[in-house]
Amino acid sequence: MNNSIKRIGVFTSGGDAPGMNACIRAVVRTAIYEGKKVSGILHGYQGMIDKNIIDMNSRSVSNILQLGGTILKTARCLDFRSPEGRQKAYHNIKAEGIDALVAIGGDGTFTGAEVFSREFDIPVVGIPGTIDNDLYGSDFTLGYDTANNTVIDAIDKIRDTAASHDRLFFIEVMGRDSGCIALNCGIAGGAEAILLPEKETGIDELIAKLENAAKDKKTSTIVIVAEGDKNGGAYNVAKRVQEKFDFYDAKVTILGHLQRGGSPSSFDRVLASRLGFAAVKNLLRGETRIMVGLRGNEIVTTPLEEALRSKEFKLAEDMIEMTNVLAI
Ligand code: ATP
Repeated sequence: MNNSIKRIGVFTSGGDAPGMNACIRAVVRTAIYEGKKVSGILHGYQGMIDKNIIDMNSRSVSNILQLGGTILKTARCLDFRSPEGRQKAYHNIKAEGIDALVAIGGDGTFTGAEVFSREFDIPVVGIPGTIDNDLYGSDFTLGYDTANNTVIDAIDKIRDTAASHDRLFFIEVMGRDSGCIALNCGIAGGAEAILLPEKETGIDELIAKLENAAKDKKTSTIVIVAEGDKNGGAYNVAKRVQEKFDFYDAKVTILGHLQRGGSPSSFDRVLASRLGFAAVKNLLRGETRIMVGLRGNEIVTTPLEEALRSKEFKLAEDMIEMTNVLAI
């Protein structure tokens, strides 16, 4: 055990994701169980710079396991990108007695954590918390499963009204660079077509699919559009499709930030607990500048540098092929 660590600082940063609270709870309780003190840093890196830091104990994290969002708040912090900002942050956390960090967030958060840890030789472990599922080194990120369930629920509801009116719906889901939510939810929701950032689909190709669906007497059609699709988002796609194909009345739904909220699924609660527990255990074992993640059913670690540098194509080929087959 690394006895030089006396107080661990935990924070959430970047986009919030369901499961962050369950993860904070696991970090706090594991650290306290191991005889360490814990500080909660509010608003991510901004809280380090503003010295917005609270003392936490086991009771500070009572009754939060099931809550969406993050009790520690989150922020995007421009000042932390400068050496002066990070110097101030270091000065403030040192003054609080924090000598190790657990960072819950996405790739931006890990980039900041990696730089900070090197500059000031402070141990840090990252936990992948983002609904996008876009980090190398973990099959799943915190919040992804819950976001999928939220999107599927929305697709089912839209399907009811689409089928009643014989309509074509374009549903835009989150994912600027990652089509994980779009592909997964498109399959689970029985979408007729799925547009992904990783794979270009031309408008003519899409129209051909829709024409086939109409010929086969489908009473409703749903197209899932990831926000990062190269055609420019659901409104643009709908407009361009309707110019050439007006068989159905077309509607657009942008699911937006509701995908970020809600009570975490059981999968996310368990993942959050395992990753929070593993993060503290690894810190106390003397590990630093690593991310904890899930591979298969095992908790694994990946150097932060590698997690940031490596690109992983997370879309399974069979799922991409299946989108055409199961939509006939
Ligand atoms: P999400 O994937 O949900 O967007 P994220 O962690 O990638 O989450 P970002 O806003 O990209 O979110 O990053 C969070 C914070 O990390 C930034 O606001 C900034 O304070 C810090 N950060 C990002 N990149 C750097 C960098 N190159 N150097 C220092 N700090 C950085």
